[in-house]
Amino acid sequence: MHNGRAMTTETEPAAAAIARAPSHRPSSWGLGDGRAVPWEYAPAPESRDIVRLKDRYGLFIDGREVQAADGERFASVDPATEEVLAEVARATPADIDKAVRAARRAQRTRWGSLSGRARAKYLFRIARVLQERSREFAVLESMDTGKPIKESRDVDIPLVSAHFWYYAGWADKLEYAFPGRVARPLGVAAQIIPWNFPLLMLAWKIAPALAAGNTVVLKPASTTPLSALFFADVCREADLPPGVVNIVPGPAAIGTYLVSHPGIDKVAFTGSTEVGRIIARSVAGTDKALTLELGGKAANIVFEDAALDQAIEGIVNGIYFNQGEVCCAGSRLLVQESIADLLIDKLKDRLSTLRVGDPLDKNTDVGAINSRAQLEKITELVASGVAEGADLYQPACDLPERGYFFRPTLFTNVAQSHRIAREEIFGPVLSVLTFRTPDEAVEKANNTPYGLSAGIWTEKGSRILAMAQKMKAGVVWANTFNKFDPTSPFGGYKESGYGREGGLPGLHAYVRLEDR
Ligand code: NDP
Repeated sequence: MHNGRAMTTETEPAAAAIARAPSHRPSSWGLGDGRAVPWEYAPAPESRDIVRLKDRYGLFIDGREVQAADGERFASVDPATEEVLAEVARATPADIDKAVRAARRAQRTRWGSLSGRARAKYLFRIARVLQERSREFAVLESMDTGKPIKESRDVDIPLVSAHFWYYAGWADKLEYAFPGRVARPLGVAAQIIPWNFPLLMLAWKIAPALAAGNTVVLKPASTTPLSALFFADVCREADLPPGVVNIVPGPAAIGTYLVSHPGIDKVAFTGSTEVGRIIARSVAGTDKALTLELGGKAANIVFEDAALDQAIEGIVNGIYFNQGEVCCAGSRLLVQESIADLLIDKLKDRLSTLRVGDPLDKNTDVGAINSRAQLEKITELVASGVAEGADLYQPACDLPERGYFFRPTLFTNVAQSHRIAREEIFGPVLSVLTFRTPDEAVEKANNTPYGLSAGIWTEKGSRILAMAQKMKAGVVWANTFNKFDPTSPFGGYKESGYGREGGLPGLHAYVRLEDR
């Protein structure tokens, strides 16, 4: 390592050089002036005891836990320890057929004809049970995903309940939601969710679908099926009629089968752009409704008049929150040239204070990467950054011996043509670019096939408004980042997908509007 940059030789691949390089401990800690004294935090682990895991879980179809038709199972692994948490039934096409039939029956005979007020009652109950069991869900989510407990406890799970509360509020007000129109449910929704926010993505999809009178068949990601299966238990506790919610863990192929099923009326997908394309092709030519929430490569733009210390916190939250495994992560930092050196120094200092390790420790800032495959993808992309000539910086920190961990990483001297500036890394890796004028910032920010989110840091309100209008992104944050609210629509443009989740547009995605 030299000046924070891993040096490679002709015979040594860049990935090996990164693994070998000793991490860099800056001279100062926290304050940027060398006065702050480093200290160690005592471990503060959250107990796992609140989560009662069974050895095996079935599918949730028609209100009951059932085994897969062929009896096959797969393991869900704790990415921080590499230990198997539980075995989960792997759905087959016959199971999907059964789940779709159950969902259809429930939609036709019960759920679709219930009054909005009655549906709201169930959604309120679900929200309340989730709140009552929030600590259990937070611990479980951290165990299955690798995310820090302070994030699952303070962000994911509160937002999950908030979504159910919010859409419960719409269920009995559908006739006022779209003035002059009658809102009818679409029918049965196939919902496929990713592994980065498993329970939150479930809530984003199930809450509006149920509020509008639809029933659902949901496939969780293979690395994180557990919170969805615990949610099945919440549905039972809330006395939800059988078949309204069906949960079918299984491999990617079962996702393909589900979205192309003729018994489905609507498909909602969150995940990679590549799979989004496959799904869009399979739905094309049918009358299924489709919403896609895909990848991103967001620009976080810092102007020279921004409140720098506040911006540093926003940058850190933008890219290191959830290990950077966030579709709207601020993975490209655009800094005005006049403040670039100062900001990068401050950022390096701040990175040196991030604690990487046990997701269940309340002091942990950066937990485990969700899977070995994702860790390999991040490592490969970081190696490409080094090989293409960008300068790599990683703070000193000892990584746990077991588990899938990656140091918070910062690249400077990045060119727009580098892969780390173009491709979604989905890891704790920030690429820093500079600009001189607002026009150049706009040009660079929009120079991406994605269009999910952007951030703007400046003291001037007029500049925020001018910049926000020019950003080709579905969500623009000003002097903050990664803020979510159930009332606020979320979604992208271009290769980040189409359709919106959250707010009234999120409800719109689950209804057919007819003239009165
Ligand atoms: P995928 O898009 O493959 O997975 C997301 C979900 O789709 C999972 O439930 C997955 O099932 C399912 N799936 C996969 N292939 C198909 C298919 N052909 N038809 C229907 N469903 C399918 O993401 P990965 O997990 O492979 O991650 C790869 C990259 O995608 C990440 O590195 C990141 O860049 C991006 N990503 C973006 C996300 C976002 O929020 N926008 C979320 C997750 C990933 P299974 O788990 O069984 O494979």
